[in-house]
Amino acid sequence: MSILAYHMVSPRFCWGLGRVTPALFDIQIKTALDAGYEFISLSEYIERYPQIRGCVTLTFDDGYDCIYEYALPILKKYRLTAAVFIMPAYAGMSNTWDVNWGGLLFNHLNWHQVKTLRDEGWEIGSHGYSHVDLSRLKERELEKEVTWSKQLLETKLDTDIRTISYPFGNCTEPVYRYCARAGYKAGLVMSRKPATVPDDFAMQRIGVYLTDFKHMFKAKLSSKYTTAFMGMQSILDFCSDGTVLVKQRLNLKIKS
Ligand SMILES: [Zn+2]
Repeated sequence: MSILAYHMVSPRFCWGLGRVTPALFDIQIKTALDAGYEFISLSEYIERYPQIRGCVTLTFDDGYDCIYEYALPILKKYRLTAAVFIMPAYAGMSNTWDVNWGGLLFNHLNWHQVKTLRDEGWEIGSHGYSHVDLSRLKERELEKEVTWSKQLLETKLDTDIRTISYPFGNCTEPVYRYCARAGYKAGLVMSRKPATVPDDFAMQRIGVYLTDFKHMFKAKLSSKYTTAFMGMQSILDFCSDGTVLVKQRLNLKIKS
């Protein structure tokens, strides 16, 4: 059983590993189906957890518009859906919150595209309001990121927002308590699970990267991870978005 965490599915070059090509994505889905994995929705995963065997759930962080262009048609071909986590502050805008190495910018889904995904059966969750590290915020700042993002998504999409994917996978006990009070039913981290947060608010996912060809991808589908594997995965998770974290922390220091 695994919850897979994707970012971009795109043929367009970007620095870093947080992307798979549409061809690789198609191969990965087919690999999972051929291996007999059952694809279940995130809601079903949460409902059945931890009594899950042989299942896989797809999630996308950041809500890039390449998901609409490339992941949606591939998943439709296999009659599958996924969950996507949106930052409302960047809907329809480019990813200026990122480091943008070499001046490369990527667009986020606009509201029309998010509504189309919802209508296609995808689940929508929050990725905070503006993609900042929640673990470093004060309570009044958490209101905007945690509560407003939920309310705004619910108003725009006329659907319940029950899940949050913590930006950078970072969750602490105060963040989890705030999210639970705000009405979320579950929270998703990456490969590192904070010890003081209960399982339903620290659901572990495994990131999928450009380097995940057949054998590595098969290892990620199974839940039999070794300590060495998870250590390497944590490094990959950090490489995929750690530079953004450094940029945001530098900005905070300059402002304060
Ligand atoms: Zn993110």
